[in-house]
Amino acid sequence: MYGYKCEYCEGNVIKQIVAREAFEHRAGFVILEDVPVGICNVCGYRYYHSTVLREVEEIAAGNKVPERTEAIPVAHLA
Ligand SMILES: [Zn+2]
Repeated sequence: MYGYKCEYCEGNVIKQIVAREAFEHRAGFVILEDVPVGICNVCGYRYYHSTVLREVEEIAAGNKVPERTEAIPVAHLA
């Protein structure tokens, strides 16, 4: 899964554990903690493993109960 060539540049995709990563889905956001992310060491493009994306989908669809829910501040710029 990690250590391969980036699709967009000559960099390598390195696995990192990210403390908090927000994923946008159709109806909003899901935040995962301590999530493994493949990050290109040159352009910074982020690659997510299918199991991570499935977790987001499961929570977004209501099939899996999240550990907790946080309120997210929203502001509308006129
Ligand atoms: Zn890259």
